[in-house]
Amino acid sequence: CGIVGYVGSDSAKEKIINGLKSLEYRGYDSAGIALDINGKIEVRKQVGGISNLEKIIDDDSFDSGVGIGHTRWATHGAPSTVNAHPHINMDGSIAVVHNGIIENYTEIKERLIAEHGIEFRSETDTEVIAQLIGVLYEGDLYEAVTKAVSQMRGAYAVAAMAADEPDKLVAVRKDAPLIAGIGKGCNFIASDIPALLKYVREIYLIENNETLVVTKDDIKIFDEDGNRVKRDVFHVTWDA
Ligand code: GLU
Repeated sequence: CGIVGYVGSDSAKEKIINGLKSLEYRGYDSAGIALDINGKIEVRKQVGGISNLEKIIDDDSFDSGVGIGHTRWATHGAPSTVNAHPHINMDGSIAVVHNGIIENYTEIKERLIAEHGIEFRSETDTEVIAQLIGVLYEGDLYEAVTKAVSQMRGAYAVAAMAADEPDKLVAVRKDAPLIAGIGKGCNFIASDIPALLKYVREIYLIENNETLVVTKDDIKIFDEDGNRVKRDVFHVTWDA
């Protein structure tokens, strides 16, 4: 339902939580966050409101400059902590948050079980994306996400991170909203503008089938064929 991601040098936890709070009006049943902490992805998630999540992430050691967060409105699998996002692949080296629905997730799931012995933890369509990216990953998250998306049908905004590329977020959209926020020495991704207004007013509006590769100094937009896209900066003049 809501997605926020941050890459920079400040507290990703603070930015993501504040961003998710700005999207609370959309409604949700659970919330979660994944951070890259010293080259390892750590996920914490919880049913209920963001205040419930805040209770389990208030230790100072759980923070870093890179992360993704999500508020979930369950479509596949009951509202529960296991089904909350982020979802990770088998060895926990890939984390994914997702808005929308993957129509052919059962088909992909069965193939991942039969051909790769993947063991699924949740009932969600989203975990299929994380596991699929995990199977396709060969050191380049953009390539793995692009390959995964070519097998997926449905409506989605997906944001992903990889433990082996700790300075980077990759996000892609089809028939679900996605934006990037341009900071100073940091950058953001989000499902909607209100999530970022506390921090940035310069935005890239991402179009259907475009993929974002975001580091703290750079936002690259690619079209479906892998070509770089040049996008004008959109200045937000209103307040949330
Ligand atoms: N289909 C996904 C799920 O049920 C994402 C739902 C959402 O957009 O929050 O977990």
